[in-house]
Amino acid sequence: MSSDPAPQVIDDRLVSLSPADGSQVAVFDVAGPEEVAAAVKVARETQAWWWEQGIAGRRRYLLKVRSLVAERMPELLDLMRAETGKTPSDARTEVATALEHLNWAPKHARRVLGPRRVRTSLVLIDHSAHLEYRPYGVVGVIGPWNYPVLTPMGSIVYALAAGNTVVFKPSEYTPAVGQWLADAVTEVVGRPVLQAVQGFGATGAALCAADVDKLAFTGSTATAKKVYAACAEAMTPVVLECGGKDALIIDRDADVAAAADFALWGGLFNAGQTCIGIERVYVHTEVADRFLARLVERAGALRVGAEPDSQVGPITMPRQLDVIAAHLADAAERGATFALGGTDSVRPPYVHPTIIVDAPEDSRAVREETFGPVLVVNRVASADEALTRANALPYGLGGAVFARADGMRIARGMRSGMTTVNSALAFAGMPRLPFGGVGESGFGRIHGDDGLREFAYAKSIARRRLRQLFPLLSFDRAEKHNRLIDRLMRVRHR
Ligand code: NAD
Repeated sequence: MSSDPAPQVIDDRLVSLSPADGSQVAVFDVAGPEEVAAAVKVARETQAWWWEQGIAGRRRYLLKVRSLVAERMPELLDLMRAETGKTPSDARTEVATALEHLNWAPKHARRVLGPRRVRTSLVLIDHSAHLEYRPYGVVGVIGPWNYPVLTPMGSIVYALAAGNTVVFKPSEYTPAVGQWLADAVTEVVGRPVLQAVQGFGATGAALCAADVDKLAFTGSTATAKKVYAACAEAMTPVVLECGGKDALIIDRDADVAAAADFALWGGLFNAGQTCIGIERVYVHTEVADRFLARLVERAGALRVGAEPDSQVGPITMPRQLDVIAAHLADAAERGATFALGGTDSVRPPYVHPTIIVDAPEDSRAVREETFGPVLVVNRVASADEALTRANALPYGLGGAVFARADGMRIARGMRSGMTTVNSALAFAGMPRLPFGGVGESGFGRIHGDDGLREFAYAKSIARRRLRQLFPLLSFDRAEKHNRLIDRLMRVRHR
C-alpha cells in the first residue's frame, strides 16, 4: 500500500523528501553520539554567556528572533510545505500560533521566573524569604514532523527565555525546517544558543544519553517511553508531550451547525495529523442526524491535493497510510458504517475525508491514533455516557465540548490536560494556557507560566536579617522557649 519510505539515507546522509511528489528537499549529515556530545559541550559553554545577558537581554534577542521569523514567514512556509505537504493555510496557522509564543515567553519571563521576596513564617520572622527560578543549563529538545515549528518552539523559546541553551533534534521528516529555526536564532543572537543536530531515532537517543540537564520530547507515546527510560539513567528530568485520541462531545442543546464545523476543522486540519486533533465524536442521539448531515456535506466538499488552494494535503509519513487503511478496514469488518468515504479513501499520498459512524468502542479507529482526515462519530444517550466513553482510553491530551447549559461541567469532567467549549483546538493558540496531557499523553507542561517554570528550577533562599528573636535554630533553646513555641502553635493552629 505505502509508497517509498521517506526520508532516506543516501551515502550516510539524511535526505528529506516531499511527501507530495517525492522530490528531494534537503540533505544533512547525520549526527552520531560524538557530534551530539560536541553540540552539548558548545551549548554548555554558551550558556554562561546567555545567562549573563539577563532576563532583559534575552528578551531583546528573542523578540528580534520573533520579528525575523515574521519577516521571513513566506520562506519558512515554503520549506514547511516542501517537507510536510501542508496546505498554505495549515502552514500559516502553525507559524502564526508559534509567533504568539515567541512573543509571549520572553515578555513574561521576568514576572514568572525573576527574583522576588515571599512571606516568611511567624516563627522565622527574623528571616526573609527569597524565591527565584534558575535555568537547568542545557536543554535537549526532540521534535516531531507534524508541527515542525510550533511544537519544538513550545519548548525552545520557553527554555531560552528561562536562560537555558538548547540542542534540538528535529524530526527526520523535517530537518530543513529545524535547521532554518536554529539558523534564524543564531543569526540574531550571534552565538549558538540553539543548535540543530540532524538524524533519525539514534540521534535522538544520543541526545538523551548526552550530558543534557533537561530533555523536552514531543512525539509518539511509544518513543516517549524509550526517552523516559533513557533519561532515567542519569536522572535527567523530562517533559513528555505525546500522542492523543481526542474526543468531542455534543450535548442535546448544542449549536449543532457550529459543532459540525468545528469538528470538521478540529479533525481534518493538517490532514488530521494533529496530536490534539479531534478523532472521536460522541453526539447525543437527539441531534446526531442533523449533526451528521452537515458534517458529511461539508467534509465531502473539501478539496484534497497539493494545489495552493487545497484544504487537505498529503499524508506526510508514508507508513502512516498503512495505519489509516488498517483502521478503516477494521472498522468496516467490525460493523461500522461509513457516512463518507470508506476503505478506498486511502489513495497515496492522500487520504480523502472519511466519516465512520457507530464504530465499536474497542475498534482500532476508536482506541488508537489514526492521524489522518478521519472522524469516528458514535451516538450516545447522554453527555455523561459520552464522558465515560471519552475518558475510557489511556490517552488524555485535549478534547472539546459543544453544549449550552452544561459546557463547563462536561469540560471539567473530561480527563484531559486541555478542553475547549464550543470551539476546537483554541487552547494551543493562547500563550497563557499551559499545554500538555495526562496518562499516556505525557506529563509536564509547555506554554504559559507553567511552561516557563518547566525549564527552570525553584531556588529558595532564606536569609537571616535580624538577631534570632529566640533560639529556634540552635542548641541553646531552653525549656521556656519550647513552652513559648507550644503556646504560639496553640494560638495559631488550634
Ligand atoms: P516519533 O515518536 O516517531 O518521533 C518523534 C521524534 O523522536 C523524532 O525526532 C524521532 O527521530 C525521535 N526518536 C525516535 N526514536 C527515538 C529514540 N529512541 N530516542 C530519542 N528520540 C527518538 O513521533 P512522530 O511520528 O515524529 O510524531 C507524531 C507523534 O507525535 C504523534 O503521536 C503525535 O500525537 C505526537 N505529537 C504530540 C504533540 C504534543 O504536544 N503532545 C505534538 C505533536 C505531535
